[in-house]
Amino acid sequence: MKSVGRKILLFGLTAVMSVSLAACGSKEESTGGTSAAGSDTAAAKENEGDVTAGGTYTAGTYTATAKGNNGDVTLEVTFDSDAIKSIEIKEHGETPGISDAPIAKIPELIIANQSLNIDAITGATNTSNAILNAVADAVNQAGGDAEALKKVEVADNKTAGEAVEKEADVIVVGAGGAGLASAVSAAEEGASVIVIEKNPYIGGNTVRTGGGYASCDPEAISIHEMTAGQMAEIEGLIARETDNETVKGWQKKVAEDMEAYKAEGKTQVYDSLEYMSLQYFFRFSQAADPELLYDLVSKSKPTKEWLGELGFEWTDSPSLLLGDTWPRWFSSVSAHGGDGFISVFTDAIEEKSYNVEIIKEVRANELLTADGKVVGVKATASDGTEYTLNANKGVVLATGGFSANKEMLIEYSDGRWADISKLQTDNDPAMVGDGIKMALEVGADVVDMGHLQLVPTCDPKTGDAYPFIGTGTNLYVNKEGKRFVNELSDRDTLSNAALAQTDGIFYMVCDKNNAGVGEDGTTYGGQNIQDLIDAGIVVKADTLEELAELIGVDSAAFVETIEKFNEAVKTGSDPEFNRASFGGDFINPDGNPGIFEAPFYAGARTPSAHITKGGLKVNTSAEVIGTDGNTIPGLCAAGEVTGGRTVAGLLEAMTSGRTAGKTVMGK
Ligand SMILES: Cc1cc2nc3c(=O)[nH]c(=O)nc-3n(C[C@H](O)[C@H](O)[C@H](O)COP(=O)(O)OP(=O)(O)OC[C@H]3O[C@@H](n4cnc5c(N)ncnc54)[C@H](O)[C@@H]3O)c2cc1C
Repeated sequence: MKSVGRKILLFGLTAVMSVSLAACGSKEESTGGTSAAGSDTAAAKENEGDVTAGGTYTAGTYTATAKGNNGDVTLEVTFDSDAIKSIEIKEHGETPGISDAPIAKIPELIIANQSLNIDAITGATNTSNAILNAVADAVNQAGGDAEALKKVEVADNKTAGEAVEKEADVIVVGAGGAGLASAVSAAEEGASVIVIEKNPYIGGNTVRTGGGYASCDPEAISIHEMTAGQMAEIEGLIARETDNETVKGWQKKVAEDMEAYKAEGKTQVYDSLEYMSLQYFFRFSQAADPELLYDLVSKSKPTKEWLGELGFEWTDSPSLLLGDTWPRWFSSVSAHGGDGFISVFTDAIEEKSYNVEIIKEVRANELLTADGKVVGVKATASDGTEYTLNANKGVVLATGGFSANKEMLIEYSDGRWADISKLQTDNDPAMVGDGIKMALEVGADVVDMGHLQLVPTCDPKTGDAYPFIGTGTNLYVNKEGKRFVNELSDRDTLSNAALAQTDGIFYMVCDKNNAGVGEDGTTYGGQNIQDLIDAGIVVKADTLEELAELIGVDSAAFVETIEKFNEAVKTGSDPEFNRASFGGDFINPDGNPGIFEAPFYAGARTPSAHITKGGLKVNTSAEVIGTDGNTIPGLCAAGEVTGGRTVAGLLEAMTSGRTAGKTVMGK
């Protein structure tokens, strides 16, 4: 697998990117060819005396730094006396995948237009602005006039090309995790595949994730000792009332397993396909279709193994993740986050020379049908070029959820969240439900559309889940300095509890050992901890009293809360909130969430719209089901665009994507 650790990735291999003027054509072409007429345009200045709007520069190379999404972006800009000649990004901690487009495009556009009047890339605004701000700084250092360059008009190069018509066995809409999984899975069956992606970058929400993949693996999970709280949870779930015969069957099987477990004197954490299904069924409103849910759970380990065969390097020890009580989450050892779930497929496509073409900046807007079958997709490129994509075998919709579409969230709201209009989201702005709308037009049915999951641990200023330190299983403290919830509750419970606190805000608290900050001051997410402190996202202190003061909560109440929590960590018993486990978490598998050793950290958090669990009705083969109850020939759907399982995330994206690729090829 080519992917390397995020810290290395960010500060080493991909961080250096250079664009030279030579690569973009001569100065005459770049200035004269791209500027509109007008007294302050680069072209006009050039006519006046061969000087761009930025004025003259003291030739040389200048270093400048500006704040990006995850900290500093540092670049070098080289000038001759009258032009910006090259921009080299030297160092950054921006999110891989999402930052690729601004890093590739913004320097190129600045140089081609000799302008700082460049639009930020949607979905990557902070990275785009960091590059623009740092170049502006370098312009001023070189004696130029950055303000004047911000007014230089940029030619609108968005002229639609000739209409494009293409054909492949399979057309996949959306290059996130599910889309790429289905593309590779279909390619394994010999398919030619075209994947279209409306963003200028691939990865969707998948690349934004913390990278946690839930898998049912009873042997792997048995490295953990079962706690009294976990045992109580099993007994509680066996006893829950249900009318559903399938679910009753799961309860019976788990009860039998537990009898044997006790008889054999076992002490490790128990897991089984039936238990994981049972947990998810009751945790998520009992709304799941049991057949779909069990299918998902059954495919978790085989799909994990498939990813491993493709080159994904898994962690050995499963651990806890926000919203779960069972330590069954695996991640990549080499890529801390979601990028491993994208690069595993792009690497496989390249290494195995699969016939898969990925076309970016092309948005699907209609499904083409013939004789009741879906036979292709109509799409439009960002420059207006029309695309007709014909599918010999079928189409896979993998367009993700709709958390970034406020109107749809409100329209389908089931009343679970009181004031959706005020909610921010941590999603990529592309998640607006395109696939659902297109499928509804060809008669598809939808299920559970109101089931919006919030994630409680987002930044109150931006709504984003990252950057941060620690994980969602750390200690939560409200503005009164008090703990208010069992931090291992399901996400709906956590979000409801968080929204009920003063200002809907709480503080996530961690210490030296569970903050995920390395010796070099780099966080698990690859940022410099000092950048997060400077940005006001995290506060750091050497004493608990100082930490309380920095976040503005009552010091005595705060210290008392920490002492009680630490006691619960030490004894494994939490009489106040009944937390079932105090074992290690996702980024600290061998540790605990106690607040024992300085430095101590805290940061304000609030819930954001995170996952839309409802979506297109599908069967276990990923075929889309119509309102007439029949499958729609030629149409599959995978990932968060689907509904019925009530378990979305990487597990759903990977398993259903793999299935869709096979089904569409008739396997
Ligand atoms: C911040 C964050 C952290 C998360 N962490 C985790 C985690 O640790 N573990 C976990 O299991 N889940 C996690 N999730 C949930 C998980 O990211 C998603 O459920 C999953 O990635 C969805 O995969 P997908 O392939 O269905 O959609 P996506 O990965 O979102 O991909 C959909 C793609 O379709 C494209 N698209 C949309 N419309 C069109 C169109 N009309 N034409 C062309 N392209 C289109 C989009 O641009 C996008 O690239 C997290 C989510 C977020 C937001």
